[in-house]
Order: sequence, then structure tokens, then C-alpha cells
Amino acid sequence: MTPLSRRAFLVQGTAAACAVPAMGAVGPFIHVPGRQAPDLVLRGGAVFDGLGGAAREMDVAMRAGRITAMAPRLAVRGREEIDARGLVVAPGFVDIHSHGDSSLREDPRAESVIRQGITTIVVGADGSSRFSGAADRSFSDWERDVSAMAPAVNVASMIGLGSVRGAVVGEADRRATADELARMVAMVERALSEGACGTSSGLEYTPGAFATTDELVALCRPLARRGLPYATHMRNEDDQLLEAIDESIAVARGAACALQLSHLKQQGTRNWPKLTASLARLRDARAAGVDAWFDVYPYEAYQTGLTNLFPVWARDGGDAAFLKRLDDSATAPRIRSESLSKVEMIGGWDNVQIARVRNTADRDAEGQR
Ligand SMILES: [Zn+2]
Repeated sequence: MTPLSRRAFLVQGTAAACAVPAMGAVGPFIHVPGRQAPDLVLRGGAVFDGLGGAAREMDVAMRAGRITAMAPRLAVRGREEIDARGLVVAPGFVDIHSHGDSSLREDPRAESVIRQGITTIVVGADGSSRFSGAADRSFSDWERDVSAMAPAVNVASMIGLGSVRGAVVGEADRRATADELARMVAMVERALSEGACGTSSGLEYTPGAFATTDELVALCRPLARRGLPYATHMRNEDDQLLEAIDESIAVARGAACALQLSHLKQQGTRNWPKLTASLARLRDARAAGVDAWFDVYPYEAYQTGLTNLFPVWARDGGDAAFLKRLDDSATAPRIRSESLSKVEMIGGWDNVQIARVRNTADRDAEGQR
């Protein structure tokens, strides 16, 4: 495929996949006539075509990476045949919330996703993308980098609004000026026109957390006419969860774009009862015309940086300023008490496990609670 058609495919495919849980447009029986033998025939697998119906036992023939025939029993012989009886045959899954942008370079074969049946990952999640839309960090540059890695999966990326803010406003906790906002909007426009498949925010992370609701609306407006979604790791996933859902809906309504609540959860035992209200808010938003969706993890834990345990006000100005506050007797006790109450809310330190550290001297900590 040429880079252009690949990009067009990813943009369209991802737009559909972000908004619709199951994608696929393959009818029950298809046959594309051609003289050449198929490269591959999958025999007798339980075919889930992606339209949401029950599985049907069928043969599937493919040539040059495309399905050419699909029927209960195909007479044609493939150059390669796979006995798929007892197995499931399905379109590749799209992982719409991937952090593969940080691991693809180390592992372009991406076996951890390929072996789960995932063939497309959408990166640039949680407000953080490898490009900001600035002239020297454009989507096109990033796309060229990724293509050079020749990854085993298709890769699409949203533009992270935290990355955009970081490039223009920096790490400071303040409103963007009118001029800064105009520059940020232009960067989003540019990235979307080059092929980014939506915007993402990470409002529990800095500097993305320093964006006001109005700023988010302005940065998401370019999505509307392209039919692309805004995906958000919300400002809060525990005690202010419902307020955070309201803000997300307000952004989508203000920008007239589709909304994807990333990894919706009710964090901390005391917030579990908010599940019903969370879903009710989404239902009401949809009834009011907002194209609102959500995704969930298929497991109980979540993974994030340990900085997530510190209040965002303490991170104003970046790492150096944060470390200073940890040493400052005026701010340290408040950081400590707010962090400890967050830990208590999620069930105590026993519920926090160190997955990975950057400093090799601290490797012993990995795996410990
Ligand atoms: Zn997240």
C-alpha cells in the first residue's frame, strides 16, 4: 500500500472503530472472481464477521491480503491452507487506547498485541503523543518514523492535547493566552489534516491537567467537520468522577464532536456505587444528541506513573519545581497528606505495585508493593 492509502485507511478505520465497538463490512457470502489461486484459505473456522451476529462456520479465502471469498464450503484450493476447525476467525481487533508509541521502537514486532489478535493500535492516548503538531514535531515526521520501523501492526495516532500545551505553554499551571490558544488550535488543525485520528487529553497528568474546559472545547472544535472523536482520560476517576464525566460531555457538546471516555472506572471502593450514575450520564448525553462512548479495561488494576499519586498543583512548573516543593516545609506536609489520602482511597499501599522503574539502581523495587 502507498503511504497515502494506508493513512486514509487508518483515519477512516479508526474513526469508525473509536465510535463503534465492532467494525466490519463483510457480507455473509462474498466472492471476488479472479483466476489466480488464493494465497490462503482458512477452513471451517467459526467466523465472527464483526457485525455483532453469531459465529458461522465458513471457509475464508484471501489473496494479496484481502478476502476474496467466504462461504460454508469453498471448492477453491489455496496455496496455503489452514485447518481452522475449532478456532475463531475474526477481523483484526483495534486497540483504541494503546501506549505502544513508547514500546514500538523496542519491539516493532509487537507480539504482545499481535498474539491477542490485535492488528491496529491507536496511540497518542491520555493527552500524550509523539508529535505536537508544531513545525518541528509534526504528525508527518512521526508517521515517517513509524513507517521506517515497519511495525507488525497498523498504527494510528491521536494528537495529545497535553503534548500540544507542553509545546506552547510549557509546564506552568496557568491559562493559555489568546495568542497561545490560537497557536495550539493551529497545531491541532495541522496534525488532523496530516492524518491524526482524533484528540486525546490526560487531565490527571501535567501539563495537560492545566487546561481549562474552555481550552479543551477550542482544541476539539477542529474534530467536528472531520467526524473524529475526542478521547479523554478524565480529570478525575474517583471522588469527582461524576463532575469529570460532566466536563467531558460539556467539551464534546461545545466542540460538537464525538466523545470517548477512556478506561471508564469508579476508583476506590467508596466510589463503586457511582457506576449506575456514570452510565446514566452517558445515556442522557446520548439522548441529548452527544455521540458519547466509553471503554473499559478487561482487568481490575490500572497502570500509571507514580506521579499520579501526587496532586497536580504540586507539579506546576515541572519536575524541578515539584522536587523543590517536596523539600519546602510550607508545601511538603500538604503534598504528603493529599497523596496519602489518595492511597487510602484506593485501598492502601498494598494495592500499589511497582511495575517498572527508569533508574537501573532501583530495579529491586520492580514487582514490589
Ligand atoms: Zn489513561
